[in-house]
Amino acid sequence: MSFLVDYHMHTTFSDGNDSYLSYLEVARKKDLAEIGFTDHITLKPVDWCVREIDYPVMRENLKNLCNDFSEDVQVRFGLEVDYFPNMETEIRQIIAYFPVDYVIGSVHFLDEWNFDSDRSLYGKWPNDVLYRRYFELVQQAAKSGLFDIIGHFDLIKKLQCWPESDQTHLYDETLKIIKEADLVMELNTSGIDRPCGEFFPNRKILELALKHGIAFTLGSDAHDPSQVARHFDTAVELLKEIGFTKITRFRNRKRSEISI
Ligand SMILES: [Zn+2]
Ligand SMILES: [Zn+2]
Repeated sequence: MSFLVDYHMHTTFSDGNDSYLSYLEVARKKDLAEIGFTDHITLKPVDWCVREIDYPVMRENLKNLCNDFSEDVQVRFGLEVDYFPNMETEIRQIIAYFPVDYVIGSVHFLDEWNFDSDRSLYGKWPNDVLYRRYFELVQQAAKSGLFDIIGHFDLIKKLQCWPESDQTHLYDETLKIIKEADLVMELNTSGIDRPCGEFFPNRKILELALKHGIAFTLGSDAHDPSQVARHFDTAVELLKEIGFTKITRFRNRKRSEISI
């Protein structure tokens, strides 16, 4: 698998369990070509993001790792940044502070509700309403110009929040905006290990995305070194079966492609 990348992982700088070097060691064993660290940057008082006081040390440590070309696995400087529509200026400033290769834009909140970890508000609204609100935020994130990659496209399903009616129109509308904004999506393989039990996004959405001509990269969303490149064999098989022939990689916010 020496051509593959894992572009989504979390270390102890945010809510992951281990240090850069532990992940790197597993990546080496799994023969990955590149990995990218994407600790959470979230402009809300939550305990699972990088603390502001740690920004300088994370910046230096990760920059040094990215510049170490003696490694067989290349390291990329990524971030997973929460999108909040009323904070675009602040988000832009923070991204500018880091020498990023790419930025994943993610939606983990509906207003103040951290819906992917807090079950308390499910049932208060129809799930279709939650889908509409969630995907409108994803659309705004895509249009914001802040990001390179849209993270876990259909995260709203994570805790088995399934829509009451067919949402193909909403997926389609959102994919069109992602394509117009010239963004890449990730096949985030963590979903299989979540209550939803399927990749983010699922096969049907991958098929739609291919029709829109959207490019993909791969991310395990590892929060522990043991999760690096999880389910990548299945993921690559699925991508090929659907008709994808390439995955995308980034350096200094410029993209290139690798054949799969
Ligand atoms: Zn996320
Ligand atoms: Zn993540």
